[in-house]
Amino acid sequence: GDFPIELDTVVIGAGPGGYVAAIRAAQMGQKVAVIEKGNVGGVCLNVGCIPSKALIHAGEVLEAATHSEFMGIQIEKATVDFAKTQEWKASVVNKLTSGVRYLLKKNGVEIIEGEAIFVDDNHLRVMTEESGQSYSFEHAIIATGSTPVEIPSLAYGTRIIDSTGALNLPEVPKSLVIVGGGVIGCELGTAYAHLGSEVTILEGADRILPPFDADLSKLVTKEMEKQGMKIETSVMAKSATETETEATLVYEKDGVEHTLTADYILVAVGRKPNTKELGLEMASVEVDERGFIQVDECGRTTNESIFAIGDIVAGPQLAHKASYEGKVAAEVISGKDVTVDYRAIPAVAFTSPEVATTGVTLSEIEGDDRFVVSTFPLASNGRALSLNATDGFIRFISTKENKILVGCQIAGPSASDLIAEATLAIEAGMNVEDIALTIHPHPSLSETLMDTAELAQGMPIHI
Ligand code: FAD
Repeated sequence: GDFPIELDTVVIGAGPGGYVAAIRAAQMGQKVAVIEKGNVGGVCLNVGCIPSKALIHAGEVLEAATHSEFMGIQIEKATVDFAKTQEWKASVVNKLTSGVRYLLKKNGVEIIEGEAIFVDDNHLRVMTEESGQSYSFEHAIIATGSTPVEIPSLAYGTRIIDSTGALNLPEVPKSLVIVGGGVIGCELGTAYAHLGSEVTILEGADRILPPFDADLSKLVTKEMEKQGMKIETSVMAKSATETETEATLVYEKDGVEHTLTADYILVAVGRKPNTKELGLEMASVEVDERGFIQVDECGRTTNESIFAIGDIVAGPQLAHKASYEGKVAAEVISGKDVTVDYRAIPAVAFTSPEVATTGVTLSEIEGDDRFVVSTFPLASNGRALSLNATDGFIRFISTKENKILVGCQIAGPSASDLIAEATLAIEAGMNVEDIALTIHPHPSLSETLMDTAELAQGMPIHI
């Protein structure tokens, strides 16, 4: 064999977990390389968060252009040149991925292209089509992410597609059936509905967006139906077939079998960790029964010198959670005494309206009298009125004893940005008075957090 190249820290996968971990480890003085078999930026930048938000925004622009008569704005005929929309989306992705490459280089991180496989406790091999090279490492961070689950009876093809296929469609489909009403299904469904597709979402549970509180799901369901989307819950997708031009789904509801034919069927039923073909057993890294790598509160696996972060470990499959774990693992490896703290991980669905949650949810504390729940309607906020977006609310969950904020849910425009303030407050251990006495800019949606805090104090000014 070849001589191994020595590295302090090697990171496998350059997604939001891996590239962040690599940069942080390099900043803390290590000689770092990141191995990537696909594209720098991982799922998030290439086929996840970023391209999906670009399509969602394009849909919102069209939606606003065609539905603003009430404010005296009439556009004769708004049309979509989808090839151009896709070009623009690709340019957004390209800017970001080359930005990540630049940041890695700037911090002295070597980018190694190829597929990594462990050969023993402190060696791995990187394979490219032409060759292989061995590396020895003091520490390794596994950040190989996840891929869409494939149901055998709904096998992917050209008309039966996964989220990556749905992001890269050549045209706006006339009709789109989505199996799975989770965040990815609901977001892509909303984007295409706004762009003109007839969208049907089929969900196995009794409501869409199951990880969010029921009232958030209900609000999004109502809005989606208002926008013409069809939502069927408590259904079981059984099988799908495709021809050159369309796909047909067979599903069951209340014991009755139905069929649906559409231009495309998007199957978005969850993502599985990429742990196979990594040679984990050669490095004594153990996975749980669902294939997730087992880690302690520092991100350390069953092999002392190997860490794992992001979608490959348990917890919500979110880019910011991957990056956070990446920073913690890199700092632990560099000798800092830190552990993860999952008290407040914000989660967002970029639907219409956006919904967001951080910290404790309502379903976790319902009926528990140690908590106070305060809900402020968006309709009482001037900025929301001026945006014509009053369907929504802000909810605080605080402790009764000392009024410390422990949870927040938001439905409405910019919920994805507003949730950051609540996350910071929870992280800092603030109570509702701290928030109520923080001066917020007027007129802004952020004032609703101050209003909700006043409500929690029992002295609301605006309702
Ligand atoms: P990944 O981003 O999956 O990156 C892993 C990388 O490892 C990949 O580049 C892969 O090629 C590489 N790799 C795998 N195996 C090997 C190997 N053996 N050798 C070398 N390289 C390897 N999250 C959010 O927070 N917000 C959102 O709005 C959001 N929207 C999403 C929309 C869609 C359509 C999808 C699919 C996901 C979305 N997510 C979102 C989830 C988010 O993309 C993931 O949580 C995140 O990418 C996980 O980061 P990661 O670093 O763990 O792994």
